[in-house]
Amino acid sequence: MRIREVGPRDGFQNEPEVLPTATKVDLIERLACAGLTRIELTSFVRPDVIPQLADAAAVLEAVRLPASVTASVLIPNERGLESALEHRSKFQEINGFLSASESHNQRNVGRSVAESLAGLGRTFARARAESLRVEAVISTAFGCPYEGRVEPRRVLQIAEQLAELGAQEIGFGDTTGMANPLQVAAFFEEAARALPGVELTAHFHNTRGQGLANVLAALQSGVSSFESSFGELGGCPVPRGATGNIASEDLVSMLHEMGIHTGIDLGRLLDAARAAQQALGRPLRSHLLSAGPVDWQRPPSG
Ligand code: ZN
Repeated sequence: MRIREVGPRDGFQNEPEVLPTATKVDLIERLACAGLTRIELTSFVRPDVIPQLADAAAVLEAVRLPASVTASVLIPNERGLESALEHRSKFQEINGFLSASESHNQRNVGRSVAESLAGLGRTFARARAESLRVEAVISTAFGCPYEGRVEPRRVLQIAEQLAELGAQEIGFGDTTGMANPLQVAAFFEEAARALPGVELTAHFHNTRGQGLANVLAALQSGVSSFESSFGELGGCPVPRGATGNIASEDLVSMLHEMGIHTGIDLGRLLDAARAAQQALGRPLRSHLLSAGPVDWQRPPSG
């Protein structure tokens, strides 16, 4: 089971508050202490567009991670990669992204899907030359808030092109929480056939409360790589007020309860989520933060 914690990027980017660099570093180090071995640290985006991540370089330079952690950085474009490469020793992976639907991609990055693919090709080649591992994430892979249904065939064609361009891992994002479990199961069965040798990763949001159900469906279709965010941090501006990624602590709790080993210390992960809650000064939304872990030793107190 492989879990990539995306809270420090996907979470902080989409929360209204801008956390101090030292707080981000402390939270990231807590996540590593909890046993998370894949962490997306930040993104080199334009600070005027996303002020929440304006300290990307400072975070990379300050954070101290054990060698067991594979750190990744989200790269919006070639310029972002050049900025990140000034801190090359601080991360091992890059994530590039695009949307499966034209209208979402246009609104998100102001490019057509074909233009995004061309840019990602150049970015991936440069990253591979720097011995970086490459993940590509396809947003709106299960539905688009502007276009509605997105054909699985189209998503897989884009994924095949990304693999040809050098992506070793492809994440399929349901960033607006439109996917349902049956759709997810059918999709990943097809994806496994279409993309042999590529690590397939599921990135679900809990917008409509179906995040963990989708995880189970993906698991049953053979997926063993997931992305999640501690405290259920993050969200998406469309639809308005949408909740965030599935919570890492909810995901880990479900896996452990099903007897699936993750190597993650749930208590320490919850401590990290509580620390994020304190830093943001408001309650976060994960179920485990409210209910706590399952305790089979004690009868329910009602
Ligand atoms: Zn997300």
